[in-house]
Order: sequence, then structure tokens, then C-alpha cells
Amino acid sequence: MLGLMQDWPLLCHKIIDHAAIQHGEREIVSRSIEGPIHRTNYREVRARSLKLAQALERDGYKLGDRIATLAWNTWRHLECWYGIMGIGAVYHTLNPRLFPEQIAWIMNHAEDKLIFVDLTFLPIIEAIAASVPSLEKVIVLTDDAHMPESKLPNIVSYESWLAAVDGDFTWKTFDENTAAGMCYTSGTTGNPKGVLYSHRSNVIHALVSTQPDALGIAAKEAILPVVPLFHANAWGISFTAPMVGAKMVMPGARMDGEGIYELLDSEKVTFSAAVPTVWLMLLQYLEETGKKLPHLTRVVIGGAACPRTIIQKFQDNYGVTVFHAWGMTEMSPIGTVGSVKPQFQHLKGDALLDLQEKQGYTPFSVEMKVTDDENNEKPWDGKSFGILKVRGPAISSGYYGGDGKEQFDDDGFFNTGDVAHIDKDGYMQITDRAKDVIKSGGEWISTIDLENLAVGHPDVAEAAVIGIYHPKWDERPLLVIVRKAGSDPSKEEILGFMKGKIAKWWMPDDVSFVDEIPHTATGKIQKMDLRKQFADYKLPTA
Ligand code: ADP
Repeated sequence: MLGLMQDWPLLCHKIIDHAAIQHGEREIVSRSIEGPIHRTNYREVRARSLKLAQALERDGYKLGDRIATLAWNTWRHLECWYGIMGIGAVYHTLNPRLFPEQIAWIMNHAEDKLIFVDLTFLPIIEAIAASVPSLEKVIVLTDDAHMPESKLPNIVSYESWLAAVDGDFTWKTFDENTAAGMCYTSGTTGNPKGVLYSHRSNVIHALVSTQPDALGIAAKEAILPVVPLFHANAWGISFTAPMVGAKMVMPGARMDGEGIYELLDSEKVTFSAAVPTVWLMLLQYLEETGKKLPHLTRVVIGGAACPRTIIQKFQDNYGVTVFHAWGMTEMSPIGTVGSVKPQFQHLKGDALLDLQEKQGYTPFSVEMKVTDDENNEKPWDGKSFGILKVRGPAISSGYYGGDGKEQFDDDGFFNTGDVAHIDKDGYMQITDRAKDVIKSGGEWISTIDLENLAVGHPDVAEAAVIGIYHPKWDERPLLVIVRKAGSDPSKEEILGFMKGKIAKWWMPDDVSFVDEIPHTATGKIQKMDLRKQFADYKLPTA
């Protein structure tokens, strides 16, 4: 027997409809690429997204077409997402921090037909357009007054292109499993792989992540997504914020400490989301200037393991609660969130930080397990670690074009490539990426634990740990450090600081000081490059 409930497809544009109806006046404030602060609201964004959909249809775009965006977080980028999805086409976010050749490769793989591009990134498209034969048209996210000279054929300013239609348009209706968005993983091994979100998965992910123990977003909040729309589906915030009617504050091209602080302060932001490196910059700015964060109540930190000092400083010095979260592009992206379960509400100080340093537990809709190489499940005892696998309605079932089939097991679980353990209370902790873990004498050493510990030293700006060949142990850890400006800690000081806080045999065999640690396009430490850099390195213990 079937239930007798209405068939109301979970389509993303219903989210912006709802926002316009219930929270129409709620603001979306952006630092525009042209400079000034720009203000709009959900009603206007919906109206302009409808125009965008209408203009796309007029130009011949239709269901299933991939339409690229290469843009910062602004109201225009948000309009692109909703307008594109509104005709059943697919927003395809491109990461401007990739090399132009990589962007071209990805665009060709996706066969993008049209691109919406910020002024900042137009030179990238000018350089690669000729090598992307599918690309028919370039729309620059600005008005005619700011349009630069360009030799590209078929280029137009966003505002003049939108002005040519009247907005008398109705969203298309289609199956909720229709593709809505696309984002390629950075592909630290092999070619990038295309993750393809559906309308249904985006809506479910938003419903789940607004829960109080996940991101807990409410209409009264003002949200600043520092996390770019081009990184892992913007952690879902383009859907969660309008779903609940929260004010959105979009940072545009400025993500430095001062730029973020200005918006947090002037727009009375209560909630924000970013990777640890962004928060390190903000905390440094606050320490230098003595400024405080009177409005901010919560931050979610993910994308890379969050060092304990960041959590501690936010909470102790600024009264901001930290939610450490883990996820990935393939998971829409939220997998776990580190909110505090009732049995731990009494925890304080170090005991609370121990819990918060873990990546957290799964919200409803995410299943996880930790297995060995033969897919045997490991116990949830907080120490047995292995490969982390996940399953759920907002998790990839495959990659665009059929790549990466080996990452799925017979039960439909996806191999995340992360190494983790889970404790009896369900809290998961990532110890490494499988390809970064150090294998010393047959035992594994977590590079994340070592890095997070080292970064707690007051003179350390950034730390990375890699395995270096050792004749007896196979691999031993080398700690690579960027010192804070104006400080000059010695190897002995750093190792002395770490001593006693980790198992003896985890202690790095050496410390190397560098000016800079290489980063990936999503702001993570680029271990592959670092390993190349230290390929000929000889440990003093070898
Ligand atoms: P990319 O690999 O393209 O940067 P993702 O955002 O999809 O994009 O990366 C996901 C990976 O980032 C995870 O598999 C994990 O290795 C790492 N990661 C994300 N959040 C955390 C976290 N809180 N702690 C440790 N690692 C994390």
C-alpha cells in the first residue's frame, strides 16, 4: 500500500521561492567586485534569478546543459545558481585557484556551454577559451559601465544581458533527481572527478544541515559564508540560508583577516563558516589590533583538521562556539559536525577541547563505518582506525562520466580516502588522509595530530608533517614549519614543546624551517608538492 501524500518534488528553486515569500525583505549584503558594499534581498534575488532563467531559455539553453561559474561569493553568483537550476540546467562551479590548464581540462570534461565570470577572472577565460570548444558564450558578472575591453567573441555584461528580458517566467518542473550542480574534486591523485548534485540531494542536505545539532541556522541569524561557492557546494549555505531566511553576508574577493572582520562587525554576523587557514588569519588580525567579536556566536570550521588552538582562542578569548565539521565535495559536503551531546554538556577546559577536536558525529542521513582493507568493520572504540566509508542520500553514487568506480563497495558505501576512528559515543576523528599517513615500522603515525600539536606553539604560523624514508623504520616523520613573523624558535624548542603530549615514537625525527608551505586550490597543505620538495632529504636519525 502506498501512502497518500502529495508528490511535491524536492526542487532547489522552491527554496528561493520560499525565501521570497516568507523572508522577502531579508538582506543579502555583498562586497561587490567593483568595490562598494551592495545590498539586495531574497525577493529581488528570486526575481532576478527568474530573469536569468528566462534569458538562458531565450538563448537556447535547456535541461541538463552544464553552465559554468568562475566567481567569488556575491549576490550575482547566487542568482546564477538559482537561475541555472530553474531551467533544469546544471551550475558548474570552477575553482579559480586551479591552474588555467586544469580549469580548461575540467570545462572540457564537463562540456560547459556558457560561463558566468567575475571581472577578476576574465583573463583566465580569455587565456583558455580557444581550448574549450564547447564554450559558446561568456557573461561577465558586472554592468556595462565596468565592462573591460575583451577580444572574446560573444561576451556580454551580466546586467545588460539580464535587462533584455522582463522576468515573466515560471520555473521549469522536472524530476527531483535531475542534476542541479556540479563540482570537481581537486584531484590530488589522477584527474579531477566531477561530483554531480541533484535537486533532491541539495534539498535533503539543506534540511539536514539546518538542524540545531548540525549548523543550527535560524531566520534571526546573519551568516557569512567565507567558504567560496566554488568549494564543495559552499557547504550547502546557498540553500540553508534562504531555506530558513537568514541574512547572507557575502565577502566577494576579500578573505583576509581585516576584510572578514569588517563584515563580521558592520553586518553583525552571528554565524560563519571557513577553513582553518582563514580563521588563523582572522585570529592573527584580532590579536594584532585588540579587536573583539561582539556579534559572532558560532563558527563552523572544516575542510581540514582544525587545530586545537583555534577552537580554544575562539571560545576563551572571543566567546565564539566552534563547531568542528568534516565533509567532502562528494558529500554535498557535510558528513559530521562536532556539537556536544547531552552526556558531555558538563565538560569544560581541556576535556571539552578533546571532544571538540574530533570531527564530530553524523547527522541523520549520513551512515559511516571504518573498515580495514578487506572491508571488515572496525569497532567503535575510539582507537581502532581504518578507512572511513559513508553512505546516504546526499552522497555521490558515482562520478560524472563513470570515473572512480573503485571507490564504492558492494553495499554502496563510498570510500572517502580518509583514515579515522570512531568512539563508542559516535564521535569520529580523522587521523589522516590515507595517502598522507606515515607508516613507521608497520605502525601508523597521524600527521594531523602532529601538525595540530606543533601549531599550538606560539611561534609557529603553520606546520606540516610528511614521511621521509628511513632505512630501519621505512618512514619517519619530518616536521616542516613556517615561523611566525619576528620569531625564531629552534628545533629543540619545538620538539621540547611537543614532548610528553604524544607517544614517544611519534616524535618527529627532524624539524625543517621554510618560508612557505604549498597549498592546494582549496587551501589545504599540498603534501604531494612538499614530499617532492623534500624528496632527497636525509633524516639525521637515518
Ligand atoms: P578537495 O579535496 O578538493 O579540497 P574536499 O573539500 O572535498 O575538497 O576535501 C575533502 C577532504 O578534506 C576530506 O576527505 C578530508 O580529508 C579533508 N577534511 C575535510 N574536513 C576535515 C576536517 N574537519 N578534519 C580533517 N580533514 C578534513
